[in-house]
Amino acid sequence: MANANKKEVIGICHLCKNLRPLCNSHAIPHSFFREIHQRNNGQAIVISSAPGPLRKSNDSGADRLLCSECENKLGNDLDAPAYHWMKSTQEKLLKGAVSGSVEVNSTMMAKFITSMFWRASVSKNDLYKNLIVSQQEREIMRMSIIENGNPFEQMSFSIANLYDSKKQFDGVSLSEFILQPTTWTNANKPSKQKLLFLTIKGFLIVLITPRVKPSERSRPIYLSPKKDRIFLRPSDVRTNPKFMEMHDVALSKVIERDSKQVDDRA
Ligand SMILES: [Zn+2]
Repeated sequence: MANANKKEVIGICHLCKNLRPLCNSHAIPHSFFREIHQRNNGQAIVISSAPGPLRKSNDSGADRLLCSECENKLGNDLDAPAYHWMKSTQEKLLKGAVSGSVEVNSTMMAKFITSMFWRASVSKNDLYKNLIVSQQEREIMRMSIIENGNPFEQMSFSIANLYDSKKQFDGVSLSEFILQPTTWTNANKPSKQKLLFLTIKGFLIVLITPRVKPSERSRPIYLSPKKDRIFLRPSDVRTNPKFMEMHDVALSKVIERDSKQVDDRA
């Protein structure tokens, strides 16, 4: 495994477009998976709406995407500070020490969210097959995360704090739940706007493109380039149809697996 990973693969870096050796890059930073893997013998439960049994996996969605310079830049400038913000904010939320508005580096966070969806959109890893992004949207995202790029020009971002109104999942379980990046379109209300979402660390992360209208934009639930605070709106997982659809599939698979384990023990 280690040898296979060391084998050099030369290609065009998706971010800087230079021909260089490519790293095995993660869209959702590996740190988010590492923590779950550590608690579950090196594996995470992968939730997907695909048929077949629930699978445990050590796959954290890597693909050859970036040269080492771009990989390190995204890792240091975005992934590391975003992970630390989410981890510490989630810990405070679980202790009940945070309500409503919290401090956040808005530009860093907006770039981090953009970079995750962008990396997922260029990756061929199976984990990202629910994400539908056009060539044009992909380029807007790429331009927003490079030096001096402004993610707020064409996109809006919100971060909500997940909870379960039926209390089937507590905050700790929700924070261990990674819902793969997904494009959501409202079939009943056609709109030009596209919504990309995923859940990590107990947060529902949403990117909207094109950005919401000016009167909406000033609402505290959106990241704003003008202020380093955001209102962490509580979001009931029961009201997210895509989440529930996948959750129902996953739950039936969990029940199936658990009953099988009971049979095995008998
Ligand atoms: Zn590069």
